[in-house]
Amino acid sequence: MVRKLAIDDVDKNLFPGKRVFVRVDFNVPVSDGRVVDDYRIKKALPTLHYLMDAGARLVLASHLGRPKGRRVEALSLRPVAEHLSTLLGKDVAFAEDCIGEPAFGVVESLRDGDVALLENLRFHSGEKENDPRFVEELGKLADIYVNDAFGTAHRKHASVYGLPLLFEERFAGLLMKREIEYLGRVRENPDHPFVSIIGGAKVKDKMGVLERLASVSDRLLIGGAMAYTFLRALGRGVGSSLVDEEGIDFAEDFLGRYGEKVVLPEDHVVSDGNTTEVVFGDIPDGFAGYDIGPSTIELFKSSVNGARMVFWNGPLGMFEKEDFSRGTFEIARFLAGYKDAERILGGGDTVSAIHAAGLKDDEFDHVSTGGGATLEFISGKELPAISVLKDL
Ligand code: ADP
Ligand code: MG
Repeated sequence: MVRKLAIDDVDKNLFPGKRVFVRVDFNVPVSDGRVVDDYRIKKALPTLHYLMDAGARLVLASHLGRPKGRRVEALSLRPVAEHLSTLLGKDVAFAEDCIGEPAFGVVESLRDGDVALLENLRFHSGEKENDPRFVEELGKLADIYVNDAFGTAHRKHASVYGLPLLFEERFAGLLMKREIEYLGRVRENPDHPFVSIIGGAKVKDKMGVLERLASVSDRLLIGGAMAYTFLRALGRGVGSSLVDEEGIDFAEDFLGRYGEKVVLPEDHVVSDGNTTEVVFGDIPDGFAGYDIGPSTIELFKSSVNGARMVFWNGPLGMFEKEDFSRGTFEIARFLAGYKDAERILGGGDTVSAIHAAGLKDDEFDHVSTGGGATLEFISGKELPAISVLKDL
């Protein structure tokens, strides 16, 4: 198991008076100068409170959107600083640039327990390019480095990959620590019976995840559009459902190796653009499957029953449309109520789906904040930003 030194593994006396660079993931939707969804900001609060209480001087940094290495006013983090200030009940100083005089000035003015947020790291092309000069400039702003941005841990960007190596003291934040612990157990050492549920759009994007999960799971439930590629590989009629042509060979080979663990949908909510209905078995020509059907919902619930750990990634249908949301929402609600197992969820759209179902993160044991990072981690890859942190 990967275990990294985190801020709560070291003596708290390390922090008073120190400038601590905290790489957070504040890549939140902003519209008309206001934060529309503060989900990711709230996830960073435990780390921020921990360091503030310890008397550190916090220098927060994040990216927002894709400004492509230049200043784009609509992607300024200023509204995030204002929002964070409300959440913390305390002033958050804002630096107009993440390096140079504007950043220095703000960091200089911090007292113990104070918080500053730097402007969008991606206003500089050096962030994505991991440019050594940009790394060096960022390095001048702090004494200790903390990474709490799991969502960008699969990137070799300056603030998560080059920068930490400048610091003797480089730690995981509390969110990063939690992600590594839960996802690490999923991929390496789950409690059994362990049931994985995988859905979403493309097999091709998730081959590594499917492989890894199949090797550690007792049962693997496959739904979403992904299921049609598997059903096609079995020679079943899938009508005009979304099939990932490049994934068919993989699916066939995969079923040959793991078929006994795999549970596929037996009925589907289908549509031809006019009528929506449920079909059992083969999907007729002209119709596409957009959700798992009612007997598959029951099949999936009974396949989860008895599990002591469950991992779920990928919506089980096109949940964004009400007609096709039932499979995803019912399984989400079922898992929220299934307390016999530790339930771990991840994936950008999966998290949107559970929120759309009216569920909150604390109704599950762990809801991962990563999209691509979560999938890469689960597939067994070593993520660059985690690899540069110190082992516990
Ligand atoms: P995640 O981000 O959680 O990893 P994915 O990105 O793999 O999930 O997949 C999410 C998308 O898959 C959703 O936008 C959803 O509409 C789509 N999807 C799921 N099932 C189907 C289906 N049967 N037909 C078409 N699209 C589907
Ligand atoms: Mg997605």
